[in-house]
Amino acid sequence: YEHRKKLYAINNEAKLFFFHNLLTNPIPKKYIVERGLKKELINKFMIGYATEKSQDLLNYMLKKGFKIEDLLELGLVKQSKRNNSLYDAYRNRLIFPIIDLRKNIIGFGGRTLVDDRAKYINSPESLVYHKSNNVYGVMNLRNVSKENKVILVEGYMDVISLSNYGIDYSVASLGTSLTIEQAKLISRYTKNVYICYDGDEAGINAAERALEIFRSINISPNIVKIPDGLDPDDYLKKYGRDSFNQLLENSLNPILYKYNNLINEYDLNDIDQKVIFLNKLTELLAEIESKLIRDEYINRFSDDLSLDRDNLQYEINKILNTKT
Ligand code: ATP
Ligand code: MN
Ligand code: MN
Ligand code: MN
Repeated sequence: YEHRKKLYAINNEAKLFFFHNLLTNPIPKKYIVERGLKKELINKFMIGYATEKSQDLLNYMLKKGFKIEDLLELGLVKQSKRNNSLYDAYRNRLIFPIIDLRKNIIGFGGRTLVDDRAKYINSPESLVYHKSNNVYGVMNLRNVSKENKVILVEGYMDVISLSNYGIDYSVASLGTSLTIEQAKLISRYTKNVYICYDGDEAGINAAERALEIFRSINISPNIVKIPDGLDPDDYLKKYGRDSFNQLLENSLNPILYKYNNLINEYDLNDIDQKVIFLNKLTELLAEIESKLIRDEYINRFSDDLSLDRDNLQYEINKILNTKT
């Protein structure tokens, strides 16, 4: 417990160091402006900057009396395998502190200002940081009750950008694979979840996986589709808040979302593709537990596709009967 407290203290000191750098160092200025990171956002999210020097944080922390082994444990400092020299893990990066519900700094994300191979680097797993149990922007979960909804996004900048547009009820799963622990954490605040991942292929696939994670804890999320491969941050900057809210309103429930994907995936004028499509459609409908609701979609989709309703029902029944 004492050790844990010490690690939090170190992270907090690092946060202050990075934050101070951002305000005083000229190098990140241009980038901050380009990304629309206004003073209020920098303060609110305690955004910082790790300088280009390789032992900047290390020297600062040693002067403060912290031990190398603890800095290594937190992943703030690394040791070269070649010559055992110590160096700061984050260099020339914007720093996003990751905070838990008790307001402890548990880790950091760092975005390169240049075209580094690793766009982001994040704290390694440690006594205080468990990636799969935490989300970024956790303080936003406290605002969820007012809105009774939460927007799940992929990245740091998405949460921050949404906040810039007055939307303070989003969290990021940090990377593209949502875990069940993260889904449970979110669901403690609301069951009304909007999955709003990037509109690129990785994001679309990740949204499908996130959907299944939520389904496994009996939550039926809405899925927001962002056009042109944009992410929430890009979209807000390009089209503004009203347009983004429109996307939220146009979000689809899981059944309609998957139906839409099937429609887009297969060319229904091609008979071979249509056969596959019809099989997938039948499977999708057979997954709906409630007979009442299943009926509703059977009516809708058979109308929409000019299919014979009874035939569709017959095929679905075949699947349902084998499931017993
Ligand atoms: P930006 O807008 O700064 O370019 P982004 O958030 O849109 O960044 P994405 O590539 O969409 O970046 O990735 C989404 C999220 O996934 C990031 O915010 C980050 O948390 C995580 N991520 C991305 N790339 C990496 C990486 N190389 N290593 C670890 N995590 C990453
Ligand atoms: Mn992406
Ligand atoms: Mn993105
Ligand atoms: Mn982005």
